[in-house]
Amino acid sequence: MPHNVLVTGGEGKLAQALVRLDPSIDAPPKARLDVSRYESIEAYCRAHPAEVIIHAGAVTNRFDEDVDEAYIRTNIMGTANVVLWCMRHAVRLVYLSTDYVYPGQRGDYSEESVLLPVNRYAKSKLGGEMAVQLYEQALIIRTSFYETMNFAKACTDQFTSRLSLEEAAKAVYHLAVKTQARGIVNVGVPAKRSVADIVKAEFNPSVEACTRAAFHLPYPLPPDSSLNSGKWQAIANGGAQPSLARRTCRICGSGRLWRYVELGATPLANAYLKEEELETNEFTEELAVQLCESCGLSQLSKVVDPDRMFRHYLYASSTPATFRQHCAELAATVTAHAHAQPGDWVLDIASNDGCLLSAFQARGMNVVGVDPAENLVQEANAAGVQTLCAYWSPAVAKDIVSRFAPPAIITSTNVLAHVDDVHGFVNAVDQCLAPRGLWIIECPYVLDLIERSEFDTVYHEHLSYLSVHAIAALVERHRLQVVHVEYFPDLHGGTIRVYVARSQDAAVTPAVEAFLHRERTFGITARGPYEAFAQRVRRSKDALTALLARLHREGKTVWAYGASAKGNTLMNSFGIGRDLVPMAIDDNPRKWGWYTPGSHMRIVGIEELATHPVDALLLLAWNFKREIIERCEQAGYQGGFIIPVPLAEQLEPMSSVQRERKQVSKR
Ligand SMILES: [Zn+2]
Repeated sequence: MPHNVLVTGGEGKLAQALVRLDPSIDAPPKARLDVSRYESIEAYCRAHPAEVIIHAGAVTNRFDEDVDEAYIRTNIMGTANVVLWCMRHAVRLVYLSTDYVYPGQRGDYSEESVLLPVNRYAKSKLGGEMAVQLYEQALIIRTSFYETMNFAKACTDQFTSRLSLEEAAKAVYHLAVKTQARGIVNVGVPAKRSVADIVKAEFNPSVEACTRAAFHLPYPLPPDSSLNSGKWQAIANGGAQPSLARRTCRICGSGRLWRYVELGATPLANAYLKEEELETNEFTEELAVQLCESCGLSQLSKVVDPDRMFRHYLYASSTPATFRQHCAELAATVTAHAHAQPGDWVLDIASNDGCLLSAFQARGMNVVGVDPAENLVQEANAAGVQTLCAYWSPAVAKDIVSRFAPPAIITSTNVLAHVDDVHGFVNAVDQCLAPRGLWIIECPYVLDLIERSEFDTVYHEHLSYLSVHAIAALVERHRLQVVHVEYFPDLHGGTIRVYVARSQDAAVTPAVEAFLHRERTFGITARGPYEAFAQRVRRSKDALTALLARLHREGKTVWAYGASAKGNTLMNSFGIGRDLVPMAIDDNPRKWGWYTPGSHMRIVGIEELATHPVDALLLLAWNFKREIIERCEQAGYQGGFIIPVPLAEQLEPMSSVQRERKQVSKR
């Protein structure tokens, strides 16, 4: 994937080692980019836009001079300037910090260890870290490296996990460019060595051994500053990263977050299991929603590594017929609204198996999709829908503009809510949308989640619960504007379709103000409606678990219908397992033979209903309720149904008289 990478401190050893690794890296000297002045960053970065900034520039450790003022200006204020630029322009930031932020006493420090900088330099680097930690898209690398250590004397009682300069550059490059790692990562060699051992092995075989007491420095040399690099090793080996706690609003940055619903520690809602995996430990993470009391965004408390969630996705949007119809309607409506012509380009972000794009193709448009799930991308391309396998990013956006044309229509259905770095997402849209183009966002409507108690649409993949308020707050920060809103009460339990255009030539329909008004009346930033919602969730749980327990006692067989993400949330947050509901029917043949995460229901096709006596079907896919009931009846199913949301409701089996009447009325 193409990236513009900028390294600060171009004259430094690390910057030069990075350029040797990748000559396309821009590493200007301090005379051209002086981080201690924000204007210098602004002027340089406007002329040389970067997608990743590796901030390696610093005043380094000096033993004998008083450089505190330089530390403050460059290492603390300069870093704060870089953070500000990156935050304002949604640029990925990688900050080079030091192993000396830890106390340097016992060694094996992990990222969570207590900090106590060894010297004044380390204090200034920690000062820089504090600014970086306010930017959630940033990565802090704590490390230490050496180039030449051709010493005559070296300590046998000073231990470190320092890497060679070349190894350090490779690690920084990989973390910055090839991964989406964020937070703090220690980088060091796995086994610590004494400084004397390093010098002896690599520079001077006849080095004279000494102890730390022989050195007289303004600070005591730390006995053991080695790092525990387990997290880095896991990332380097392609392992998923630990989840990230979300402490600020991803749209407005406010820290006024209030948790209102707790759904327990549950497995990922799309992490289906094979039979042989049933006995293995499933990954689980806290599932809780918090309200931003500043802008009204609802967001999860934890962000699970996307690589854990989206690389192999069993869901295909083509499955339900109602969704195919929705795609055709979307293509027709949006084409008309955008005054798009056959031959114009349409881009679908997170295009799944290409269902929506094929509806645009049928209208004579040129189409291109982007999706990170390799299996679905192969399928889409095989079906003639040109699709790139990638996460949506500014680099992909530029690639699309250079290979095709700026899209007149960009669609993103059920994806924005899955994205942590929403500003990076919008930035990428802004990079490629045609001047008079329209960007369409479809997402579940948070008002429906709350008002209809659809807590089962909460799952780890679904990071944000959006309103027109929140989307407007987001796009306006990128000089874009919400120009129209449509609403689909029956799609995924209530969906909004938000039209976004460049603000300078936007004509705004009255629907926008109507939705904003409705949200204000609802109390989008007030605690009341959310508190009432949490109470209703608790009541739903009590009602459904009581009903299932009663049916179980009566010896009734209950299966589920719809092994969907929402169904998995419901089963797991209510603690319902295969003892009460052993099987789940699903229309997607890809899921047959698999087991649902957590609850471990076996997934089968509807045909199984004909050979098994089932008394009631728990409609986990209640959003397709009408369609499913009809399908079951066509398949000869004669049992009842349970609608779990908002409050468990049992539909009795139809009597034979009703069934005949229905047959007659059909004729
Ligand atoms: Zn907010």
